[in-house]
Amino acid sequence: MISQLIKEARKIIIKIGSNTLAGNDGKINFTFLDEFAQQADSLIKQGKQIILVSSGAQIAGLSTMDKWARKKDLHYRQALCAVGQVELMDAWRRAFNRFGLHIAQILLTRDDFNDSNRTLNMRNTLFTLVDEGVIPVINENDTVSVEEIKIGDNDTLAARSAILWSADLLILFSDIGGLYDKNPKTDTKAKLLEEVRDIEEARNSIVIGDANSFGTGGIATKLDAAALVLSYGIPAILTDGGKPRCIEALAAGNQKGTVFLV
Ligand code: ADP
Repeated sequence: MISQLIKEARKIIIKIGSNTLAGNDGKINFTFLDEFAQQADSLIKQGKQIILVSSGAQIAGLSTMDKWARKKDLHYRQALCAVGQVELMDAWRRAFNRFGLHIAQILLTRDDFNDSNRTLNMRNTLFTLVDEGVIPVINENDTVSVEEIKIGDNDTLAARSAILWSADLLILFSDIGGLYDKNPKTDTKAKLLEEVRDIEEARNSIVIGDANSFGTGGIATKLDAAALVLSYGIPAILTDGGKPRCIEALAAGNQKGTVFLV
């Protein structure tokens, strides 16, 4: 099912969570970025279009401004993301440049999606970039995002962007293999749900555990994101982005995950 979805999709939006972007040392995993860019390049060569939603500004910022690690004040966290966003984009730019691909940064807030003028501009910019073979890399604009105007998690941001771009498929890369009946990080007997057609039923039948150290939304926002895209007829896949050459493995049917379908 997963390989078929990837084969049939032309417009794919991929969200990469912080725990996938960071190595065990809590720093950006450059090997992952390089490997990802190489696989994205091969998808593009097959005629597919790609948009990325990349978390990781905070972890990238922490690598640079480690003396701010214990500052919990909102303005420091926003400042940290402002520093880290540059580092993050620099890492993505270098990874994609090796394949002659350009990237573009798009920073959004919830307000942007609620204003028809801004939505139109975002849509036009995304279409122009993608048509020209540039890879848009979307993230939340943390500098201006206080609680009231925050989307809050990149799963929802990715879902809203997928709808805006009329994507064919949303892939959420996390540090877990998919949706389980229990938190796989704390319960070794947790079972993977490979296909979900009724998200509310799934939500009520599983145990939703805590998110990871760098994660923001946890599994709950992934379910919200899947429900949101499904309401527009866009299927979603949740899988472990940390597995070697995971896009290729998914396309070849060699990697499992959870597929959310109508
Ligand atoms: P990301 O940074 O990739 O977005 P999060 O940390 O926000 O990831 O969310 C993924 C985490 O959700 C997993 O690492 C896992 O520990 C936790 N989790 C809790 N309950 C479940 C469940 N039922 N199925 C899968 N993951 C779960």
